[in-house]
Amino acid sequence: MEEIQYLKEKLAETISANHKKGWSPATSTNYSFRIDSIEEEIFVSRSGIDKSEFSDKDFIKVDFDGNPTIEFKDFKPSAETLIHCILYDLFPLTKVILHSHSVYSVLNSQKYSDEILFEGYEIQKGFKGQTTHENQVSIPILENSQDMIAFSNLMKSKSELFTNHCFIIKNHGTYAWGENIFEAKRHLETIEYLLEVNWKLNH
Ligand SMILES: [Zn+2]
Repeated sequence: MEEIQYLKEKLAETISANHKKGWSPATSTNYSFRIDSIEEEIFVSRSGIDKSEFSDKDFIKVDFDGNPTIEFKDFKPSAETLIHCILYDLFPLTKVILHSHSVYSVLNSQKYSDEILFEGYEIQKGFKGQTTHENQVSIPILENSQDMIAFSNLMKSKSELFTNHCFIIKNHGTYAWGENIFEAKRHLETIEYLLEVNWKLNH
């Protein structure tokens, strides 16, 4: 399908651009999209790929439990695939999910515990629903875990706090999502920009 190929190419371009920003070192991070006409299936980046070489051929399909579909049964999805599944389930309008392992998300996450607050920055309007720099914006920080079932439950328990379409995982990185690639990118770039400003301002 043309739509699928288009999205694979656009997302591969985004992954490459994000890698150049230093957001996906050492094969880290994972990305996904889904389309309306294929329900209950998600296109997700293969794990273990050097993100400087990621291409439109490097997506596999998984079901909503994170298991590869039959045509991709020989591929192992990233352990973090379940995070994508939970986000699509929690926020049904979501079509694209992006992830970063940026330095500034890790640095900030060490300094704050449950949330990080921003206020007065014009770029806050990059988050869908924010119409003025005058609001106080809260971005949740979740404890990292290798137990994806436990982490999924943590996400579900905090989901009401995900009002700005992104969250931080402590000493790990950020996740951001949107109703299309453009919006997901805008959300990721907004949080990453705020994290960089906040860190440089205070150090
Ligand atoms: Zn990660």
